[in-house]
Amino acid sequence: MKAGWEAVIGLEVHAQLNTKSKIFCTCSTEFGQEPNDNTCAVCLGLPGALPVMNRDVVVNAGKAALALNLRVNTESIFARKNYFYPDLPKGYQISQYDKPFSELGKVEILTSQRDEGGRPIEWQLKSFGLTRAHIEEDAGKSVHDIGDPDKTHVNLNRAGTPLLEIVSEPDFRTSWEAYDYVAFLRRTLQYIGVCNGNMEEGNLRCDANVSVRPAGQEKLGTRAEIKNVNSLRFLQKAIDYEIDRQIALIEAGGEMVQETRLWNEKEGKTYTMRSKEDAHDYRYFPDPDLPALEVSAEWIEALKAEMPELPEARRQRFIRDYELNTDESFTLTGERALADYFETAVKASGNHRAAANWILSELLRELRNAEIEIGGCKIKAQDLGAMIRLIDDKTISGKIAKDVFAEMFASGKAPAEIVKEKGLVQITDTSAIEKIVDDVIAANPKEVEGYRSGKAALIGFFVGQVMKASGGKANPKAVNEILKAKLEA
Ligand code: ADP
Ligand code: MG
Ligand code: ZN
Repeated sequence: MKAGWEAVIGLEVHAQLNTKSKIFCTCSTEFGQEPNDNTCAVCLGLPGALPVMNRDVVVNAGKAALALNLRVNTESIFARKNYFYPDLPKGYQISQYDKPFSELGKVEILTSQRDEGGRPIEWQLKSFGLTRAHIEEDAGKSVHDIGDPDKTHVNLNRAGTPLLEIVSEPDFRTSWEAYDYVAFLRRTLQYIGVCNGNMEEGNLRCDANVSVRPAGQEKLGTRAEIKNVNSLRFLQKAIDYEIDRQIALIEAGGEMVQETRLWNEKEGKTYTMRSKEDAHDYRYFPDPDLPALEVSAEWIEALKAEMPELPEARRQRFIRDYELNTDESFTLTGERALADYFETAVKASGNHRAAANWILSELLRELRNAEIEIGGCKIKAQDLGAMIRLIDDKTISGKIAKDVFAEMFASGKAPAEIVKEKGLVQITDTSAIEKIVDDVIAANPKEVEGYRSGKAALIGFFVGQVMKASGGKANPKAVNEILKAKLEA
């Protein structure tokens, strides 16, 4: 950022809550149905149809609020947010306004600036305030790109899908803080199973409010709200672009107007979409069709007691218990399934360092190459642990283990079975190794000569020959020792 300036960022995240049916009707929320199949009188906004609250929405919203340290209000009110748009048939969205489901939260997250190559520079623990998280319904979708280019189609399958809107305080100062925060939110919501968190599919959507002010000034500058950032990286780039644009505008004597802007990824720029409306433009008022949403203090306590270990707590525990570094801990807790996999492999192997190494290098690389998720991995976590045990008790060498691993990855067979089938048990019997060493020495007199006249580097050649002759099965440490002893005799 240009010296003398400070950026201020506040984020509004819309998380689609995982429920079988919509928020106020029994229509399915299933993705990919034929357009307008998942609709009824309620979500089509037909006159006289009445909304009925879906209990699962409240449970999921409650879990999310607790995970984000928000205070859950025992009473909250649904309000109508009035605006006209073709994908909003009722002419209003049911949301919450002055009495939201939850408010006054705080999250502590690790965040870091990144270097040119996108690598974290230094992780710092920072605290960010959450204003509120309220429950609302999603709108439908206007589709402009099928058939007649002059026609717009409306698909209302998404209308009435439950959302949790999580509004932050304007506490972020850089685009990377915003990036780390949304990544944290996504991970947390996925972990507790309330949101799939797929930004490309619009499962998790983020609007960034950005303003700038001279460093040291207390008063906030005029903000622009940026929409259409459907990945974390786009969010980060859009914020950086917007900060630079605003500083350049103000320095050139221009004035900021409060507006909504759209990110254009192809051009790497934001564009004016509309001037920003204020709350009074929406004529919010309590929805007369819905009673106040009441939850008891006991219900909140019971929900708290059911909460699983949250990803940030688990990440910190991994660092303590398994001696991981920060990057490793982030990767291994990035998905709940991967974190579970790791812990199972640790238990089965009794060797946390080896379990971390195999997963972080070999396993994740192979999964990436094969485009498989950890859930679809053929190697069972117990089997990876068993393979590490075979290395540690010297049944197989580290080198053979790579082959065993490849076979496990392809077939899902247990390591002991593969080792037995292919006769891969490591040769640790010194007399057997001695015999191979003798043969290699006899077959390579020139190199023996060279080694003995001082070319110590030739040891690598001999090790290679012996390993080859043993089919990779000779214990490398024993090979080294026996070779040295015989060559130097
Ligand atoms: P709305 O989008 O309905 O106008 P709010 O006024 O509550 O909602 O603000 C939305 C978001 O904008 C919040 O995350 C808030 O922190 C952030 N925000 C408010 N003022 C500023 C500002 N001057 N600069 C940056 N972010 C801001
Ligand atoms: Mg907004
Ligand atoms: Zn419906």
